[in-house]
Amino acid sequence: MKLYVKCDQCHNYIYLNTTASTRRALSQRLRSKSFYLTCPYCQHTRYYRINDAYAQVGPSGIPAGAIIGVILGGLIAGPPGLAIGSVAGATFGSASDKIEKRKVDTFNIERI
Ligand SMILES: [Zn+2]
Repeated sequence: MKLYVKCDQCHNYIYLNTTASTRRALSQRLRSKSFYLTCPYCQHTRYYRINDAYAQVGPSGIPAGAIIGVILGGLIAGPPGLAIGSVAGATFGSASDKIEKRKVDTFNIERI
C-alpha cells in the first residue's frame, strides 16, 4: 500500500515517502494533521491536510503473488514445482490482494 496526495496544479499523484496504515497513524508520524509539500512535477507548493492523503494498492502493477509463487515453486520441486507454485501463488496473491484492498479502503474511508 502506498500513500499519495494529488497535486491540484498539474493533477499528478505525489507519493509520500512514508507509510501508515491509517490517517490517524499518518498524523502521528508527521506529528501534525497537515503538511506542506512541493510537487516534484510542477514545483507547486501546497498545504495538505491528512484527509487529502489517499492510499493506493501498490507498489506496482505486478501481482506480488505471482512472484512469490514462482520462487516457492522453484525451490520445492524444480520445473513441476513452477506450475504448482504459480497456481498456489495466484491463490495466495488474490487473498493478499484482498487484504491489501481492505487496508486501502480502511485508510481512505477514515477522516480525522
Ligand atoms: Zn504539480
